[in-house]
Amino acid sequence: MKKGLMLVVSGPAGSGKGTVNAMLLEREDFAFSVSATTRAPRPGEVDGVNYHYITREEFLSRIDSGDMLEYTEYCGNFYGTPLREAEEVMQSGKNLILEIEVEGARNVKAKYPDAVLVLLLPPSYSEQEARLRGRGTETEDKILLRLARAKEEVALADCYDYVVYNFDGKARDAADQILSIVEAEKLSIRRNPDVAKNYLNA
Ligand code: 5GP
Repeated sequence: MKKGLMLVVSGPAGSGKGTVNAMLLEREDFAFSVSATTRAPRPGEVDGVNYHYITREEFLSRIDSGDMLEYTEYCGNFYGTPLREAEEVMQSGKNLILEIEVEGARNVKAKYPDAVLVLLLPPSYSEQEARLRGRGTETEDKILLRLARAKEEVALADCYDYVVYNFDGKARDAADQILSIVEAEKLSIRRNPDVAKNYLNA
């Protein structure tokens, strides 16, 4: 059984990464890395499905015991990827989707150079602002904070391997493009170093 790929999908608030990732997760060969966070659940979010909701103390103690593959503080809350769960999923052959922000993505690439980093963007910054306000789940303060953060994130786009745009009503196209990226990565010579040996001895 070949180990699954580690696929980071980052996108600023309003990029539609939840929708696009849900489409990838319709497939049996993809699994979602359920992060731990200290932020409160939003309406409709479920503990253990969207996130593991834990206290700040618990989070800090899990960092200390080396349980986090990566973590960050984002808009006042901690977010992190549980290490053991991630390893188990990839060992089972599934591609693991890490829906994390840019600092986490950079840390992942430093630790796992084989990870594939995709930046998912709305068509433009003004479109992003419109989407965020239309969502109506956040206060104005939080929207402004997330927009400011989005500007910082896009400025760091050079640490990613690929950029995919999520146009209105075209989430399926964005998901298909990410699938193509994964397929191409799996066929890369870099990931198939023994081509000649395997070919000649088959
Ligand atoms: P939200 O509060 O909107 O669910 O997430 C805020 C940001 O934190 C998003 O950009 C999301 O992708 C990111 N995030 C979620 N989980 C993790 C994680 O485990 N690590 C890092 N570095 N970022 C995360």
